[in-house]
Amino acid sequence: MLIIHHPDELSDYLLRLKIQQKSIGFFPTMGALHAGHISLLHAAQKATDTSVCSIFVNPTQFNNPDDLAKYPRTLEADIALLEKEGCDVLFLPNAEELYANEKPMSLDFGGLATYFEGASRPGHFDGVARVVRLLFDYVNPDHAFFGLKDFQQCMIIRSMIEQLGLNLKLHFEPTLRESDGLAMSSRNIRLESALRNSAPVIYKALTFAQASFGSLPIHEIEAQAKSMIEREPNYKVDYFQLADARTLEPLNDEDKNAEPVALAAVFAGDVRLIDNLLMK
Ligand code: AMP
Repeated sequence: MLIIHHPDELSDYLLRLKIQQKSIGFFPTMGALHAGHISLLHAAQKATDTSVCSIFVNPTQFNNPDDLAKYPRTLEADIALLEKEGCDVLFLPNAEELYANEKPMSLDFGGLATYFEGASRPGHFDGVARVVRLLFDYVNPDHAFFGLKDFQQCMIIRSMIEQLGLNLKLHFEPTLRESDGLAMSSRNIRLESALRNSAPVIYKALTFAQASFGSLPIHEIEAQAKSMIEREPNYKVDYFQLADARTLEPLNDEDKNAEPVALAAVFAGDVRLIDNLLMK
């Protein structure tokens, strides 16, 4: 695996491959890699000639400095895992060089960024859009891969690509879970054992919502799911809400044509976990 730090060096290298008609598949990450990330690598390997992973803990998408400081960093293990899985290129930029030639852009995500992570983490999606746009500029991928675990992020990236008129194919990959249902996340390693043991409750609440959808009123589903989660010691729900997957507007019982999805963000101690599940 080739490891490249400087953005221009990456562009030059990948441009040479493109001239040889090699397609590029890209998946951005913040490291502390797990099987969920590797599923994106495998999807990239299947669809393209050259797999490119980036690891960059992007400061502009963290609205909480403590969260940024505590974000897990396991670079040596990440490199070993990517090598083992046959990733072709790893891009490891630093913030100064990545942001050095940033061009201003003005995007409007409308309702897609209003609720959920957009409301709980002000500025988060602006930071995500900024970094993904820069990464796309340097990588110039033919295909890009994102996980549906970050459902709202997927919708934001899709909107960004449309607004900027970028020519690349987006792939959204299913959420990989631990055997007890907990969505894999880099943040899971920060859960101490009692919190980790309770963590499957988030997926249980999502499957409860799925099973009750159509038979209970939405506000009742949300209230019961929330109290299921908050019965666990040191668990606090930030939001548990049903929305229309296409608009990410909160759902009400009259919306018969919506594509319902339940979105959840939960504090397990000071570790914030997110998850979601389509209701149909
Ligand atoms: P992160 O390193 O958390 O920024 O995630 C990098 C990419 O991996 C994003 O597209 C995530 O949606 C995706 N991802 C994270 N967790 C999972 C998972 N459990 N299953 C599938 N994809 C995931």
